[in-house]
Amino acid sequence: MSSAHAGVLHVSLPDLKKDEVGSSEGDKPPNANGDEPPSHAKRHPAWLDVPQHFWNDWRWQIQHSIRTVHQLTELLPFTPDEIAALAKLQAEYKLAIPPYYFSLIDPNDPADPIRLQSVASPLELRGSAETEEDDPLDEDKDSPVKGLTHRYPDRCLIVTTHVCTMYCRFCTRKRATMKRGGWDAISRDDQRMIEYVQRHPEIHDVIVSGGDPLTLTIPKLKFFLEKLAAIDHVGVIRLGTRVPVTLPQRLYDNELIDLIARAEKIWIQTHFNHPRELTPEAVYVCRKLLRAGCQLNNHAVLLKGVNDSVATMRELCRGLLRAKVRPYYLFHCDPVTGAGHFRTSVWKGLEIIEGLRGHISGLGVPTYVVDAPRGGGKIPLMPNYLVSASDEAVILRNYEGMLIRYNPDGHTSPATSALETQGVSALLTGQREVLMPEGTPRMIRRHAIAVAERESAVVSEVLAAGKTPAAASLAKRNGQTNGTNGSVRRNGHLASRSPANESAESIARRLASELKRHKVARSNGRRQKTAV
Ligand code: SF4
Repeated sequence: MSSAHAGVLHVSLPDLKKDEVGSSEGDKPPNANGDEPPSHAKRHPAWLDVPQHFWNDWRWQIQHSIRTVHQLTELLPFTPDEIAALAKLQAEYKLAIPPYYFSLIDPNDPADPIRLQSVASPLELRGSAETEEDDPLDEDKDSPVKGLTHRYPDRCLIVTTHVCTMYCRFCTRKRATMKRGGWDAISRDDQRMIEYVQRHPEIHDVIVSGGDPLTLTIPKLKFFLEKLAAIDHVGVIRLGTRVPVTLPQRLYDNELIDLIARAEKIWIQTHFNHPRELTPEAVYVCRKLLRAGCQLNNHAVLLKGVNDSVATMRELCRGLLRAKVRPYYLFHCDPVTGAGHFRTSVWKGLEIIEGLRGHISGLGVPTYVVDAPRGGGKIPLMPNYLVSASDEAVILRNYEGMLIRYNPDGHTSPATSALETQGVSALLTGQREVLMPEGTPRMIRRHAIAVAERESAVVSEVLAAGKTPAAASLAKRNGQTNGTNGSVRRNGHLASRSPANESAESIARRLASELKRHKVARSNGRRQKTAV
């Protein structure tokens, strides 16, 4: 750490109780079998001098997290008005950003997506009580036991801690996690939550959340995981955590990984919102969790300025797939107090799904959901792929805009109508099977394949008719295609500008005239050689 910041960044742990800091011995970064974590993480200049073993130590990261406005002002530029607003926010909400996560911020960009998620903003004070709420999902009203929400038939949520490694400024549960005096003051009855699950055989799936359950001590986490894993009717335990994103060093601890692996029923729900969060460190701990037998699914939140573009979401989803983390949900940002500036329109979410579905592997397309107010729960939204319908058929749209008549009962020959019509109506009456947009990359590829196949067939005929060297040479020039993907090796430009329905006669005429040109060119060449 540079000496300029050393005094500022050594802080105590005001937001962590003893049993939530973690106390296991042997929490060392893995170093056996060459199993080293990546060691060249990006660092803010303030921490350039910190020895690698400290940087890799999650306890060092927590102890040096940015927790005050004063610390923030030493690391990022703010105007006096902004500082005054942040001081006001600090009185109400906690702040915590581990040096690792803070180092992902571009300090010169006030709109940096990592900064927007983690650094308090004066915009949080501009909320409206009419449109924003502390408990926008009415979780507390569906809570038969303090800390447990039972809303869906076969699953429930248990909040195991109010502590997070980083407090996301848009957090839906900020009343419990970030708010000073929020759930700090409430003692959850952990035993009663477990007993509730034991008494309700209809619960098959328990979401262990928070706060972040991976901030719990090993004994406390063990209590939850072992008790839940021992309940026969519980088949799935989902651990909701942002630790792989904000403090991957916590998962360098093999004791924690072993505990997760032993519980067997565990699925991990990560929370990556931006492709820049997929650092080598984050990918490394995802791999560790995969090796421990956990399935990894990602919940992203759609956030204005952070990931509200098709390009960013494509990059995020592809990056997640590469890390073998399945993009599972894209949540519309909830109307929680102080997070209004993060909210986009629902149309933005649909636009993003339109830019993902069909364009990238289905494995990489999350379900876009609105968590409905008044406890309505998660409601999926997607662009409309069902365009119209009749008694016999439905008209479907694919990602390219191709409209196709589909007979759900499997009849391949549609009924025809005497009425002459066009467009979607013609699809419904069975006069057309498909309306295909022109000029899409796929259609151009198809045309090239069709033309190449026709040319290949005609060249074979020419060769069969008279095997002259000139014909063979022409065949070589015109006829060689790549049989697997259909692309024309030598004259792709010729194939792609030729109509796919060019008749065999026309192709034969074209080839004959090329053959003639070829012969003339050869005899001219001979004459020139003779003259020389
Ligand atoms: S990690 Fe999760 S619970 Fe914690 S502040 Fe972020 S969104 Fe909220």
